Amino acid sequence: MTFWFEQTAALDSGGRAGVIHTPHGDIATPAFVAVGTQASVKGVLPETMAGCGVQAVLANAYHLYLQPGSALVDAAGGLGAFMNWPGPTFTDSGGFQVLSLGAGFKKVLAMDTTGLQSDDVIAEGKQRLAMVDDAGVTFTSHLDGSKHRFTPEVSMRIQHELGADIIFAFDECTTLMNTRGYQEASLERTYAWALRCLAAHRELTEARAGKPYQALFGVVQGAQYEDLRRKAARDLAAANVDGQCFDGFGIGGALEKRKLGEIVGWVCSELPGDKPRHLLGISEPDDLFAAIAYGADTFDCVKPSREARNARLYTRDGHFNVTNAANRSDFRPVDAECDCYTCAHYTRAYLHHLFRAKELLAYTLATIHNERFIIRLVDDIRAAISAGNFDDLRQSFLGRYYA
Ligand SMILES: [Zn+2]
Repeated sequence: MTFWFEQTAALDSGGRAGVIHTPHGDIATPAFVAVGTQASVKGVLPETMAGCGVQAVLANAYHLYLQPGSALVDAAGGLGAFMNWPGPTFTDSGGFQVLSLGAGFKKVLAMDTTGLQSDDVIAEGKQRLAMVDDAGVTFTSHLDGSKHRFTPEVSMRIQHELGADIIFAFDECTTLMNTRGYQEASLERTYAWALRCLAAHRELTEARAGKPYQALFGVVQGAQYEDLRRKAARDLAAANVDGQCFDGFGIGGALEKRKLGEIVGWVCSELPGDKPRHLLGISEPDDLFAAIAYGADTFDCVKPSREARNARLYTRDGHFNVTNAANRSDFRPVDAECDCYTCAHYTRAYLHHLFRAKELLAYTLATIHNERFIIRLVDDIRAAISAGNFDDLRQSFLGRYYA
């Protein structure tokens, strides 16, 4: 067996610490997974990411399929070999990007829907670049306008060629703005696609014997509805196609911020305890604490690196924009309590200058800091679960961060 999860400590609320074993190494959980959308964490060397404590990297099947093509990554020896990242890797199924980029949704999975019109999110018949039907999704490339079609089988083939340790079933991402009726129909479609992913995954695993084992995660949708989320989790946990079951589970789709912990709790209480759970797309400290408290093991999000490139830096006392005039001659590190390379060697004044001068090093130094900040927070949470003081850390960290 080359892929398995073991739990090492637990919270009364369902949260836990543990280890995910993969063919390319172990991931101590809970863990924040760095996003390298196009097989690169923008502006940062893999060695530097490892130095930030990154344990695993998640790349995107949609982007790599369009450019450079999954067959090329396969020929290079898979995602990890191609990008010189020796540790565990994830790819997401492409479902989210196909629908969000392809569909031209403006704010497809916004957690805060205030001020959004339903047309902003799901534009029925309105210059949509992606169309969902029961067999798959037809979409237009955001790069060159070419037409493509993703089905569960296509997503599985692409993800096998990319060769990540953890891959995801192809699902339909819905939004908080979709009607209850649409959520129900979508969930049925996602379940049918999940079974087709299991069948395709089983065949590909056999056909590509000799390659490292790839673990397939089913993705639990169901938006904000308790009955739909619970049913989706139960159905995916029980899914079995000729002996092929899911190795873990993703929690996807629209998550209303104030209900995030509750939704994770519904889902995790239906899932088997011996398989890992990945929550797609979160990194806000309060969201991380909430999700971990109720049983999510791993997370990914583009936000820490994207915000870094926008000069928005994290500190224990909240975030700030280093291009603000107040930082012009501030010779303190970004965060005096941070142990990252950037904080050890550079000042706010220097970063302020780099961003103002549009020097590329700004992106590198800022990304190192933000990634390390979130990785370290999740490392601290993991240690607190084992030490039995998760609630104390949650109170003290969030109290200060959002003060
Ligand atoms: Zn730092």
